[in-house]
Amino acid sequence: MAANATWVRDHIRPIADYPKPGITFRDITPLLGNAAAFGRAVDDLVTRFHDVAVDRVVGIESRGFILAAPVAYRLRSGFVPVRKAGKLPWAVAREEYELEYGTDKLEIHRDAIHPGERVLVVDDVLATGGTAAATGRLIETLGGVIVGFGFLLELADLDGRSRLGEHRVESLTAY
Ligand code: AMP
Repeated sequence: MAANATWVRDHIRPIADYPKPGITFRDITPLLGNAAAFGRAVDDLVTRFHDVAVDRVVGIESRGFILAAPVAYRLRSGFVPVRKAGKLPWAVAREEYELEYGTDKLEIHRDAIHPGERVLVVDDVLATGGTAAATGRLIETLGGVIVGFGFLLELADLDGRSRLGEHRVESLTAY
């Protein structure tokens, strides 16, 4: 679910027309730079999934890494990076996903997740859901079991949740 954690919004800076006209970019660097807010965001993401066992936390390049790594540490889970194509050095699984114009590719190391492992996905923003959905497909290709998706914030108008099927989706705040 999306809770209305107004304190999260207090630390997120809207940037109009970035990276292109018509887009309001949600800049999370003020939150990351504030010790209390960063810690609370990580703690709250962990709390949202207190009732599930997690073997691996997947972070999506690149802002997802910043949140997923401390969540993994708190859960005593492994951390797994999902990266843009060409960045990972070993054998990969690859998924293509749609952008507003064209497509992009995400990759994961083939041995990063073992069949049956329980996986939590963490990213900063859920927008259209295309990035998170492609990450979910990578995890399932490797036999991982997705226990949920956690985000700092979601852009509710874009309804990214609908692209994540029946999976549990938690965001700390919604716009
Ligand atoms: P999407 O695949 O449309 O859900 O986009 C999600 C990815 O794009 C996330 O990794 C975000 O970091 C980034 N993103 C999309 N829209 C925004 C936005 N308005 N502000 C900041 N980041 C965004």
